[in-house]
Parts: sequence; C-alpha cells; structure tokens
Amino acid sequence: DRSAGVVGGLNPDNAGSDAKNLRVKLVLLGDSGVGKSCIVLRFVRGQFDPTSKVTVGASFLSQTIALQDSTTVKFEIWDTAGQERYAALAPLYYRGAAVAIVVYDITNPHSFHKAQYWVKELQKHGSPDIVLALVGNKADLQDNREVSVQDGNEYAEKNGMFFIETSAKTADNINQLFEEIAKRLPRPSPS
Ligand code: GDP
Repeated sequence: DRSAGVVGGLNPDNAGSDAKNLRVKLVLLGDSGVGKSCIVLRFVRGQFDPTSKVTVGASFLSQTIALQDSTTVKFEIWDTAGQERYAALAPLYYRGAAVAIVVYDITNPHSFHKAQYWVKELQKHGSPDIVLALVGNKADLQDNREVSVQDGNEYAEKNGMFFIETSAKTADNINQLFEEIAKRLPRPSPS
C-alpha cells in the first residue's frame, strides 16, 4: 500500500499522505509482565498464548483495521525491545510513535505507578501530537484487583488520555482499545 499516509516519525512531513489510509507507529510501554505481548498477540493473531513472546525478529507486527467512515488504519506495532529493562533504550523505542499504549496490571499497584512514570516521560519526550492510551490489563482477575477503575479513569482524565480496562486472556475490550485509538488519530490533510 504505497499510497498509505504516515502519521508520526516514520515520515514526519506526511509526504504522499492519503487521508483515507493511515499508517502509524504504535508502541507499548509498561512494566514487564503486565501483558503487553499478550495484548498484541490477541489483537494481531486473535489468540492468547501466555508462553510466547512477541519477539518477532522483524521490527514490528502490523494489523490494519477499517473504521466506519471507510478510513483504514494500519498499526505498525513495535516489539518492546527490552525497554522495560533498559531505560536508556526507551527514547529510541518511542521516537516517532504516533500512538503509545501505557499498560499496567490491575492486580499490581506498582505497575500502575510505573505507568504514571511512562506517561510523564512520553509527555516530556514523545511526539507533541502523540495519542496516549492508558490500559488496565488482566481485568479478568477481578478477585485480585488492587487498582480501582476509578483510579485509572481519574489519572487518565487528568492527563487527557483515553482509558480502558482489557483482558488479553478473555479478549475483553482488546479490539475496542485499538478502534478507539484509531478514532483519535490526527488526520493528515488531503492533498
Ligand atoms: P509483558 O512482559 O508486558 O509483555 O507481559 P506478557 O504479555 O508476557 O504477559 C505476562 C504474563 O501475564 C503472561 O504469562 C500471561 O499469562 C499473563 N497475562 C497477560 N495478559 C493477561 C490477562 O489479560 N489476564 C490474565 N489473567 N493474565 C494475563
């Protein structure tokens, strides 16, 4: 799809952009173990496989979705590349990203605090028009919940982010997450 427009740093000036077909770099940030790989595999392959990592060999996996207004959005989802373990790699990872999904685990308050660190980092150093989503994952583990829906919601609202709770295990809200992100993307102006 050579005519696809690019939002974000892959092609910062959107040369040859096509308002109907967006191509965006998407990154996921958050503590190790919160479910980033499982969210991606659920979205791209429609499966939950707790044993396999998204280490794709190539630099990203991609998945295209169509919106109601006949726009298509191709997400180029970058492998986490160990950024959660090597903080110095993080800026390389999210540079030029049009979308950042910051993930925590609703059973793990530490991961919620870490998510807030990532949000600040992205606000400071991410692309100015980046679309930020806050995701509370493992929503199927209600009995072990330690971060309330309200805490997630309030933090996201204060920071102008989209918020959703998901379960990569049951597939709950996974497609909705990506659809809502797609709707919030800035559109390149038609040429
Ligand atoms: P990452 O390090 O953030 O990429 O986390 P992974 O995707 O590797 O997931 C870490 C572990 O959490 C896996 O072993 C999964 O079994 C588990 N996990 C991921 N998502 C969910 C979920 O939605 N519900 C439950 N119950 N477990 C999950």
